[in-house]
Amino acid sequence: MGNPQYDLVVLGGGSGGYAAALRAAELGSRVALVEKDKLGGTCLHRGCIPTKALLRSAEVAETVRHSAKFGVTSTLDAIDFAGVDKHKQSVVNGLFRGLSGLVASRGIHVVAGTGRLTSPTQVTVTTADGPEAVLTGAAVIIATGSVPKTGAGIDVDHERIIDSNDALGFDHAPASAIILGGGAIGCEFATAWNAFGTKVTIVEAMPNLLPLEDTASSRALEKAFKKEGISTALGAAVQHATARDNGVEVTLDDGRVLTAEVLLVAIGRAPATDGIGLESVGVTTTRGYIDVDPRCRTAVPTIYAVGDVIPTLQLAHAGFAEGILVAETLAGLQPDEIDYARIPRITYSHPEVASVGLSTEGAIAAGHEVMDVTYDLAGNGKARILGTSGLVKVVAAKDGPVLGVHMVGERVGELLAEAQLVVNWDARPDEVAQHIHPHPTLSEAIGEAHLALAGKPLHAHA
Ligand SMILES: Cc1cc2nc3c(=O)[nH]c(=O)nc-3n(C[C@H](O)[C@H](O)[C@H](O)COP(=O)(O)OP(=O)(O)OC[C@H]3O[C@@H](n4cnc5c(N)ncnc54)[C@H](O)[C@@H]3O)c2cc1C
Repeated sequence: MGNPQYDLVVLGGGSGGYAAALRAAELGSRVALVEKDKLGGTCLHRGCIPTKALLRSAEVAETVRHSAKFGVTSTLDAIDFAGVDKHKQSVVNGLFRGLSGLVASRGIHVVAGTGRLTSPTQVTVTTADGPEAVLTGAAVIIATGSVPKTGAGIDVDHERIIDSNDALGFDHAPASAIILGGGAIGCEFATAWNAFGTKVTIVEAMPNLLPLEDTASSRALEKAFKKEGISTALGAAVQHATARDNGVEVTLDDGRVLTAEVLLVAIGRAPATDGIGLESVGVTTTRGYIDVDPRCRTAVPTIYAVGDVIPTLQLAHAGFAEGILVAETLAGLQPDEIDYARIPRITYSHPEVASVGLSTEGAIAAGHEVMDVTYDLAGNGKARILGTSGLVKVVAAKDGPVLGVHMVGERVGELLAEAQLVVNWDARPDEVAQHIHPHPTLSEAIGEAHLALAGKPLHAHA
């Protein structure tokens, strides 16, 4: 290779790709970032941000609906979907403008078009108006992200049988919906639509909602959903689904037949690796995911991959961390490898489910002698003021550090920052217990759980 035009060419401008580009530019690299749609990717335009904006509207609807409980009389007249969409879009647009400005301010060359690898150091871009641009980089990062997973013998027609992209584009809340998949995306849409008046049924093949969470959290969410009127069919698989003019009919493997206006297929995300030239340059994949080592290096020494295209947690902040890891590695820094078991996870359902580290089951399976404590939010003043129920469960190694924290309740996602510091700093329960939590806050529940685990419970039974 002669002198490359760039130190780094990044293919895909979502969370993983733009984080890599920003950090590399900050470290003095010449960076090109290729994006076929909009900077910000799934997270900003079809994922994290628009769904949480939708959930905020849902929260406001629930607040109005239940305001009498707080002595405030109000009536929920209607959900104005144009207004819901306007709020969502204004949040997305504001963040998009901010990100575009930031990328420009770091001197990153954004190339609009569809890219593919044409050599270990070359990305060829078909630009929107026709001509191809060939970008050469000393290193290339693949960050093309993911797309909604289809399969299970179900044809997504984008009208009656839809994916999360379609659901976000809806101009109304369906009268009824079957949601296939009780993971984070399924549970978040269940919460939003239920608040907007949709009759929701979630079908989940595993025995619990959020099957990757501690069973205590899954059960608490199931209980709350039941109370809120969200139906679940757990341990049930869809045998077939048929779209009709006026709705959809879903047959479960136990013979039950469910009908609704729409079926939302939320069974996960598949890596977006088709047609980007991986095989031609020798990048290998397993079940579509790009094979990488712990430093996100592919089988080709100049090519790295980050974000949803690699088989790690499909979360925006995991993508950010991977992008930064690669940028720093390329700059000759020695960043620590990512400890995926300690990345915090939140499902923004109502109630929220937040966790970091190992579940009780996971800790035992990893060979730990485990102690755990579950603090019921019923004993927490702020939880009572808010009118939320839930729990904080702390899992620790016997005479050792905290291994995992699991929380369910309104706003517990905001508590996860403390929990992840506890877990990631290998703090012991007695070390956390000595820190004073402000009263009355939900955060006291974290303090209480650690106090109990340290053998000195305050507002909990010994
Ligand atoms: C409904 C939903 C809700 C979510 N909520 C959360 C959440 O609350 N918290 C969280 O952490 N995560 C959430 N996620 C996951 C999060 O959005 C992803 O993990 C994250 O966006 C992955 O980032 P990425 O950079 O790997 O890929 P993406 O964000 O998908 O970005 C990939 C980019 O590459 C571009 N691209 C693809 N192919 C090419 C090509 N050939 N040429 C040029 N450009 C190309 C795409 O246009 C896209 O912009 C959610 C996802 C969904 C679908």
